[in-house]
Amino acid sequence: MTQTLDRPGSDVGARVESWVSAFQDALTARDVDRVVSLFASECYWRDLVAFTWNIKTVEGTDEVADLLRSVLDGVDPTKFAVSGEASSADGVDDAWLTFETAVGRGTGHVRLVDGKAWTLLTTLDELKGHEESQRENRPKGTLHGADPDRETWKEEREREAEELGYSRQPEVVIVGGGQGGIALSARLRQLGVEAIVVERNERPGDSWRKRYKSLALHDPVWYDHLPYMPFPDNWPVFAPKDKIADWLEMYARVMEINYWGSTTAESATFDEAEGRWTVEVQRDRGNGPEEVVLRPRQLVFAMGVSGKPNKVEFPGMDRFRGEIQHSSEHAGPTGYEGKKIVVVGSNNSAFDICGSAWEAGADVTMVQRSSTHIIKSDTLMELALGGLYSEEAVRSGITTRTADLVFASLPYRIMAGFQKPAYDEAKVRDAEYYQRLRDAGFDLDFGDDESGLFMKYLRRGSGYYIDVGAAELVADGRVKLAKGQVAEFTETGVRLDDGTELEADLVVLATGYRSMITSVADLIGSDMATKVGKVWGLGSDTTKDPGPWEGEQRNMWKPTQQQNLWFHGGNLHQSRHYSLYLALQLKARQEGIDTPVYALQSSHHAE
Ligand SMILES: Cc1cc2nc3c(=O)[nH]c(=O)nc-3n(C[C@H](O)[C@H](O)[C@H](O)COP(=O)(O)OP(=O)(O)OC[C@H]3O[C@@H](n4cnc5c(N)ncnc54)[C@H](O)[C@@H]3O)c2cc1C
Repeated sequence: MTQTLDRPGSDVGARVESWVSAFQDALTARDVDRVVSLFASECYWRDLVAFTWNIKTVEGTDEVADLLRSVLDGVDPTKFAVSGEASSADGVDDAWLTFETAVGRGTGHVRLVDGKAWTLLTTLDELKGHEESQRENRPKGTLHGADPDRETWKEEREREAEELGYSRQPEVVIVGGGQGGIALSARLRQLGVEAIVVERNERPGDSWRKRYKSLALHDPVWYDHLPYMPFPDNWPVFAPKDKIADWLEMYARVMEINYWGSTTAESATFDEAEGRWTVEVQRDRGNGPEEVVLRPRQLVFAMGVSGKPNKVEFPGMDRFRGEIQHSSEHAGPTGYEGKKIVVVGSNNSAFDICGSAWEAGADVTMVQRSSTHIIKSDTLMELALGGLYSEEAVRSGITTRTADLVFASLPYRIMAGFQKPAYDEAKVRDAEYYQRLRDAGFDLDFGDDESGLFMKYLRRGSGYYIDVGAAELVADGRVKLAKGQVAEFTETGVRLDDGTELEADLVVLATGYRSMITSVADLIGSDMATKVGKVWGLGSDTTKDPGPWEGEQRNMWKPTQQQNLWFHGGNLHQSRHYSLYLALQLKARQEGIDTPVYALQSSHHAE
């Protein structure tokens, strides 16, 4: 996402100072009408936990007024001030803000048009009295002096590992130890919230290790850092999956995460009266599985937004003489050199798998069932991500945190409009490339409203390929393209709905993944899952993202209809950024801080 900034000027500085001072005065006076008069008629206030104990965007002055009337007394916002220099571009003034609430300190961002707020972001950074022990407040690590009862760091860690979950219960259990569960647990550890991460794979990083062997991250390194510990400066732009896996394993260890590998969560029930969960897990500590019952107050599911494979059933699968794999089971093309591989699907996994199968000398056919958004990786980096996440951005002083907050400052309602120009430019810049794909018969799209990759990701989490080379194989026919739906499997391959028969030794179903709530339903039961509803999507009423409009990712990182039940995950950027707000919500509850949730989301859709 690009952001053009004019040179800072004193006029803009004065304009923003004057707005901020009027804003704080009106807040202090609890004069809702006066606060609302400082907003433009088209306005958006996005709050990450600071005002709403929720992740919520209110739109328009009526909703701003409602928010204020509900929360103002409790939040008691003070000390709103401009931080750094304001800037101006295209008639929009923008500035970073700092502020305090009764219980915390926050960062904000405002965009003014004609002196009135068009967008406002407020985010909670920390809770007063519960600040993380960092920098000058870092832990000493040892006790200087003489102590006959001294417990070393190692002994303390070993004792914690023995006790937690057995003689002492954690505050939080996180089911799922991919990057999401790991990042959240790291945050909780820094905040003094005891957590156990339950992961059915053996080792941290295994969810990446087990993916097909050619996989490398599609997002560049600047977008992918984990909290507290950025990748080193020599880290590759696109990290291979096993390298990421090793990093996660190292990270989990040095961030002192209570990681229960080889442990599968089997069921979770909530005791309303006690306010605690009963989570039954099967844990294997090397001597075979044993049942352990955990009793946390809070339960977080971090089982992967793309966690549960969508294993589509087709007629005749049992008579097929070759092998059938879902893309999540496909390790790579080894053994299929010279053999026929049919890949059903035409998104990221399908392209990656076709690419490596072709490289291995297989005869590969891709079956395209519906249109796909394709964007070249270089183009994406330059036009859409580079302004915030690139070496150039780092050089110009945009830290990862600043970039994350700029990204967060754009309300989802208008984000598509900000995204679209980059993709319009991509269409021109890569016109010849797109034409070659069309000429090969490939169906392309840029999203329902031409807003491209990121909106597709936020809305439906599927339907795209960031091209790292395999699209050329389809364009020039080295990977064959077939179109249509699979009608059935035959003994020797698949038959499409137009009668086309494709011979195959291996059929890979790159048919995507199902919503996290479908995996969670297996653990909490369908009644509770229905009460919670769909996880992910904005309610944009575009393909695979049914309304009504939520304006935030459904059920992610915020209170749900089920008390003490939370969802965490997303790509590396989202895991890094939103783990802070989820961790602060959990910390506040542990400390008994009042957390009245404004506008608790309703539940929509089963999946
Ligand atoms: C092929 C592919 C390529 C991708 N490329 C990128 C990329 O380039 N960049 C990016 O940011 N994202 C990418 N993603 C998205 C990716 O899924 C996530 O970024 C990442 O894996 C999400 O981390 P997570 O922790 O939320 O989920 P996951 O990594 O899916 O972890 C969820 C974990 O939950 C565990 N689990 C599930 N059920 C249970 C249970 N009952 N008990 C115990 N444990 C359980 C699973 O074993 C798993 O380890 C890709 C996804 C796929 C499938």
